[in-house]
Amino acid sequence: MFLEPHFKGQRSGWIEVICGSMFSGKTEELIRRLKRAKIANQRVEIFKPKIDTRYDEAKVVSHDANFILSSPIEHSSKLLELAEGVNVIGIDEAQFFDAELPDNCQRLALRGIRIIAAGLDMDFRGKPFGPMPNLLAVAEYITKVHAICQHCGNLATHSYRLSNNPDTVVLGEKDTYEARCRTCYHMGNILDLRAQPEGKQKGEAKERKLA
Ligand SMILES: [Zn+2]
Repeated sequence: MFLEPHFKGQRSGWIEVICGSMFSGKTEELIRRLKRAKIANQRVEIFKPKIDTRYDEAKVVSHDANFILSSPIEHSSKLLELAEGVNVIGIDEAQFFDAELPDNCQRLALRGIRIIAAGLDMDFRGKPFGPMPNLLAVAEYITKVHAICQHCGNLATHSYRLSNNPDTVVLGEKDTYEARCRTCYHMGNILDLRAQPEGKQKGEAKERKLA
């Protein structure tokens, strides 16, 4: 469990990143930290990229329908304008932001602002997602949260896409993705019951190839 560092009488900003696969509870953890900051009388603002319109235009919503109000923005440079007078900035779906997100977060931290960013660390191909690797490199605190593999019950780190859509960004939830452990992820559609044509033998299914 992440506990907030506190620096008495010292204006100091820092960057926290919460990362993991789909269904790992990233947004729930983001909301938990932001609620605690509000209880501590911090002025909190939450932003998300405009691309994420899965649920609601103005809310950061987790899969369990927990929510807080947020502002969709098109580019991370907008954060610099909107951070005036703010103590804590929450960023959801950080993986969809532009490549300048890490630099802009560092500028905000230097201004004394606490940044809490949540995002997918890997895309459905198992590759580092958007600005996340660079953001993780410059963060003071990193929390990797895990889902549970829907096939074997071990800790899940990968987001397995059930559809064959090759685009990196396909928004969706339980009908589009599964949380899987490393082993089950690399077994690919052998485990994907819906991808099995009628009567096809399990051994015939093609294994997901690494890179
Ligand atoms: Zn598994």
